[in-house]
Amino acid sequence: MISKEHIIKRFVSYVTVDTESDSNSNTTPSTAKQWDLANTLVKELKAIGMQDVTIDENAYIMATLPSNVNHEVPTIGFVSHFDTTPDFTGANVNPQIHENYDGKDIILNAEQDIVLSPDYFDDLLQYKGQTIITTDGTTLLGADDKAGITEIISAMEYLIQHPEIKHGKIRVGFTPDEEIGRGAHKFNVEKFGADWAYTMDGSQIGELEYENFNAAGAVVTIKGKIVHPGYAKGKMVNSMYIATEYINSLPRLETPEHTEGYEGFFHLYAITGEVDSTKLEYIIRDHDKGHFEARKEVMQKLANEINSQYGREVISIAIEDQYFNMKEKVEPVMHIVDIAEEAMIQLGIKPLIKAIRGGTDGSQLSYMGLPCPNIFAGGHNFHGRYEYVPVESMIKATEVICKIAELTANKHRI
Ligand SMILES: [Zn+2]
Repeated sequence: MISKEHIIKRFVSYVTVDTESDSNSNTTPSTAKQWDLANTLVKELKAIGMQDVTIDENAYIMATLPSNVNHEVPTIGFVSHFDTTPDFTGANVNPQIHENYDGKDIILNAEQDIVLSPDYFDDLLQYKGQTIITTDGTTLLGADDKAGITEIISAMEYLIQHPEIKHGKIRVGFTPDEEIGRGAHKFNVEKFGADWAYTMDGSQIGELEYENFNAAGAVVTIKGKIVHPGYAKGKMVNSMYIATEYINSLPRLETPEHTEGYEGFFHLYAITGEVDSTKLEYIIRDHDKGHFEARKEVMQKLANEINSQYGREVISIAIEDQYFNMKEKVEPVMHIVDIAEEAMIQLGIKPLIKAIRGGTDGSQLSYMGLPCPNIFAGGHNFHGRYEYVPVESMIKATEVICKIAELTANKHRI
């Protein structure tokens, strides 16, 4: 068995190191402080007996657990990220450990009256009797994704200590800057050298994901004409009114707050405007590639229509693809999802297979040639003060990693 105390100790040692990333920075890692944890992880990987431990100039960490069987087994990988989101502070994390959770409110911070309540976060109730790690209400926790790192390292350590469990070659990869969308872009897939991998970066126990959004960003710029308001008749063109017309012409119910499951959307997330010029910033999301392309066309067409109404180019639009649905890359190698599912079933975990309404490092890695579904790491309420993780879920995730390694070696025995 994997020891609970050991998992807690390891997890706490990671979350108490501040690794907040910064989207305004151009370096990789985006913040120098990410090196603090990265260097510690390198030492730890060496200490538990991993081979070929490397860290490159951008703080990407890789390590190998050699095969302990004589037959050929595909090389598999496990990936997670050590940065935390810039959306909420990750400095001075002070984790609180609540043993034998009683199903009632958890007081995170009495002074500031911050409460983690199952009335609001009803997921909590499924962890009654378990050990729950929370914040003190003033920071995020960083289970996203230091839970994933804890699980991967603990699984490698367990496999090293239990050579009776047979497995092929396993590669481990830890990245900076996932939270600002740059976890995968400098990941050396060739050097990693795995046939496929899993990000340990999902939320609740059982999650297994191999579908995500296709994603694009659109910037719509509307040019008006500024004239003195007292002398404006027939001359002034107010870009903000045209912007409003544009916004209202897009399907009003195809927005994040009205969609779920496989429904895509247009999301207007910023407006900056004055009479002379207005800028609308959108993201476009859809699981279906055809619908995704159609959404981009709708935005362009609408701009064209308004332009022809005015008889000149008042609206210009720049659309840029951001990432794509990994389903396209994973479906041809569906056994990699099946193995993860079977591992969960064998461990008594109910697999929750669903489409991600977002992206993961894995979706980018899949398009870079490393098919990479996502597995639960156990945490909830990421990116804020209510983040928590049940220790039992981290133990289960650790077991899932070991089981996937074992099943991969078994299945490929000829
Ligand atoms: Zn994450």
